[in-house]
This record gives sequence, C-alpha cells and structure tokens, in this order.
Amino acid sequence: MKSRIFIAILTFAVFAACTTTSEKDSDVRTVTVSILPQKTFVTAIAGDKFRVNVLIPEEGNHETYEPTSKQMMETGKSEAYFALGHLDFEQNWLRKLAQGYPEMKIFNTAEGLDLITGEEIVHGDHVHQGGIDPHIWLSPSAVKIQAANILNGLIRLDAGNSAYYTENYNSFIRMADSVDSEIRQILEKSGAGGFMIYHPSLGYFARDYSLQQIAIEQEGKEPSPTYMKALIDTARIRGINTIFVSSQFSTRSAHTLANQLNADVVEFNPVDPDWAGSMITIARRIAEASNK
Ligand SMILES: [Zn+2]
Repeated sequence: MKSRIFIAILTFAVFAACTTTSEKDSDVRTVTVSILPQKTFVTAIAGDKFRVNVLIPEEGNHETYEPTSKQMMETGKSEAYFALGHLDFEQNWLRKLAQGYPEMKIFNTAEGLDLITGEEIVHGDHVHQGGIDPHIWLSPSAVKIQAANILNGLIRLDAGNSAYYTENYNSFIRMADSVDSEIRQILEKSGAGGFMIYHPSLGYFARDYSLQQIAIEQEGKEPSPTYMKALIDTARIRGINTIFVSSQFSTRSAHTLANQLNADVVEFNPVDPDWAGSMITIARRIAEASNK
C-alpha cells in the first residue's frame, strides 16, 4: 500500500518538476533533516550555504510520524538527507526515499557514536531488552559527534567552502563544550541522582552526567497498575522527585505518579530548536527538584 502511494507521489514529483519548478527554487541548495534540533546543528555549520528542510514538525511525534506526500516531494529536491540514524520513522522512510531519489545523498549523523542499546534503558522493576536508543540529539557529547558527521557531509556536497564549514563547526563545538560544562556545574552542586520520564528520551543525557533515567512508559504505552506500583517503590527508594513529560506524549500516568510521590512534573519539548537553552533547562530542573 505504502509503496503504491509512493509511486504515485514519484510520478507527480516528476510531473511537478517539469512544469512548476521556478528558477528561484532551484537556486537554493537544500538538505533535509528529521527533527528541529538537527536544523539548529546543520544551520550552525552550513551557515547561509544551504536551506534546511525539516521533516517532522515541532508538534509531531518523532516515534510515529509519517511524512505527507508534499513533504516527500520537498525532501526529494534535497541534495542530501542528514539522518539521526536510529529513529523508527527513518528506518521506514529512508529506504523508500533512497529508491525514489537515488541522486540524494544520505548521511548517518550517528556514525561513530557509542550507542545505547536496550539493556541500559531501566524501566523501574526491570530492564528493557530492546533496540537502539535513538535520542542522540539530547546530549552535548553525542551532538558533537553528529556535528563532525554533518561537517564531513557538507564538505562532500560542497568542498569549495570547506574552510567556511570547518570554521563554523569549530565555533559550534566551542558552544557545545560550554553547554556541557554549564550542565556539569549545575548538576554537581545539586547531588541529583536521577529522574523519571514518561518517554525515555534522555538516555544519553543521563549517561553523560551519571544520572539514572527511569521510564514510565511501558513498551511505548501507558504503564500497567503493577508497573505503576513498582515505579512508586523505585522512586521512593531512590528519592526521585522529578518527572519529565513531553508535550507530544500522553501524561496521565505521569501526573498520577507525581501526586503519589509529591514530585514535580516538568514539561519539556524534546525537539526544542533552542537546543543549548533546552539542555541547560533540563539540568536546572533536575537540580531544583533534588534540592527541594
Ligand atoms: Zn523518542
């Protein structure tokens, strides 16, 4: 079904390219990314040399999003796709994009990263055996590796401007380093040991700063009553009093837990385009709750 729709899209894309592409459109070199924070990273390094097309809108769920046919066509006009590498959504769509638009380069920005696999995702009373944690954009150390992959990709697309991209990359790395040391300062003083989170998107953050992340969501769904009880026990034993929730996910169980534990529910946007600001805010919230 999906592939038939895709063929229809392709046919239309070819038709549209022959009839409606204006001079102006084809002047702008475009690359595509999956989520908004990646636009922040690519724009920082590419400067004004490339326009960055984002596939998943801010309100879209990065786990389940399906691009519209219009977005697929937009993406097909890109010279390259900078993939996060391990989002389910990318696994489903990138293969089709690669077939439909063979001239579009695909760069995996997770290349060389020490990925977190299932057994490190702690779910209260048990450990989740699962795939790779895809949330590599929510950690300064992981983002620095992505930035290096973005730099290499841009140089492959446009070697003539490699000095310009390298200079931008160097200032991006300095910025990421200062975000990292600010987070360390905030957390060291607080003595925070961990946090709960509805959807476990802060695994890399937790690893970087020696925090324990405990997911409320169970297999991507609201937790069972038994699991809720285990979560309450775990939170009490570990003195956890921060519960993170994101606007894109259901939070009913998070609020129930917060009431029972007298914990703070902290809303955050995992795909905030203000990447540096959101990283520091997450650290502050964890620190504040542990000083209550
Ligand atoms: Zn996620």
